[in-house]
Amino acid sequence: MLSKLTVVDRELADQLHNELIRQNMTIELIASENFVPPVILEAQGSILTNKYAEGYPGRRYHAGCEHIDVIETLAIERAKTLFGAEYANVQPHSGVNANLGVYFAVLKPGDTILGMSIDHGGHLSHGTKMSISGRFYKSFAYGVTQDTEVIDYDQVRSLAKQHSPQLIVAGASAYSRQIDYAAFRNIADEVGAYLLVDMAHIAGLVAAKLLPSPVPYADFVTFTTTKTMRGARGGMIVARQEFGDKIDKALFPGIQGGHILQAVAAKALCFKLAMTDDFIAYQQQIVKNSQLLCRTLQKSGFRIVAGGTDNHLFLVDLEGMLTGKAAEERLAAIGIMVNKNLIPYDSRPPVHASGIRLGTAAMTARGSKEDAMEEIGNIIARVLTNGQDESVLADAKNRVREFCLHYPLYLTTTELRAAVGD
Ligand SMILES: *Cc1c(COP(=O)(O)O)cnc(C)c1O
Repeated sequence: MLSKLTVVDRELADQLHNELIRQNMTIELIASENFVPPVILEAQGSILTNKYAEGYPGRRYHAGCEHIDVIETLAIERAKTLFGAEYANVQPHSGVNANLGVYFAVLKPGDTILGMSIDHGGHLSHGTKMSISGRFYKSFAYGVTQDTEVIDYDQVRSLAKQHSPQLIVAGASAYSRQIDYAAFRNIADEVGAYLLVDMAHIAGLVAAKLLPSPVPYADFVTFTTTKTMRGARGGMIVARQEFGDKIDKALFPGIQGGHILQAVAAKALCFKLAMTDDFIAYQQQIVKNSQLLCRTLQKSGFRIVAGGTDNHLFLVDLEGMLTGKAAEERLAAIGIMVNKNLIPYDSRPPVHASGIRLGTAAMTARGSKEDAMEEIGNIIARVLTNGQDESVLADAKNRVREFCLHYPLYLTTTELRAAVGD
């Protein structure tokens, strides 16, 4: 039977179909992306999109919230259990909104924040000038040391003493090593600052206890349920109970109106799934895959920023070779998706960059294991070093196609082969 969408809007349905095939037929190594289980799609595509429920469970501004209240409470309670937190807010539309919610809860415009430099792996929302976080607040940035490429905690301390921030942000979008939350806590205490840990990328690894949890150290922890959590499109805040009231008010009515209830349902489901042995096994495989992909590239002579990875991602240094932009384009042309990325102390501007960022959460979700990572690593190495050679590119493109046909996504192998005319 034809889907309703195909009947009603063929033009749009065609593009959804094209995107499904694109997702199937490319090797997805963009570190922030993932493939959610079909049940997440079901929850997030549900009739909850019809409802308004401003406010919080038991104190709403709309009638008819009895089921929504149960759903939102499920999400809150599961998040608290999963992360051992006293308080959770499941309403942020996104990771950036979760951070804004924290800022709005405890800062006044003009207050000072200290976050990780975006040039060294930090995130836009940690105080960059082009973001609201750097326009409404005074911001300073710390980075990594030039030799080890791990966070320069001495610099964090000296900047904190010099600028007396009200809030310090730890957490990153392109950092492959563990973060020392106790060190951040000590520095925050020395200068009387709040500590926010933004674990957007690594929340799944923290939930599976493969990385240390920031929850015991931070006043606030934000994350997304996309990325390694493999769940809803949306943001989250967990915190100590004493901040609960302020955060609730900051999210609604402070920075948001009605929240996205179908995403809240998908968050509740995401947390339930994250409590299973399957999820832990999945997270373990993500790290194994990341470390193996990293080693495969190292064996082929590539330098990895910070010498390796403790999580799902790492940066490949291409200095002296092609630019990150050229590498991204060349890999995309054969069906491997990565993103260009600055490396610490990069000599090139951000539009070109000297690195690429690779992550394994998505391909692990498709079932890829170590042998697959070795294959992918070898394809990447060949294409980056012999990219002028048309026969190398043609061969790589074929290998990617064959590879993808082995890991069908939301389709059976037969359906995928039929869809691509194989
Ligand atoms: C991805 C990311 C976010 C942003 O999340 P959105 O849902 O895209 O708003 C926030 N912080 C960090 C560290 C991230 O990596």
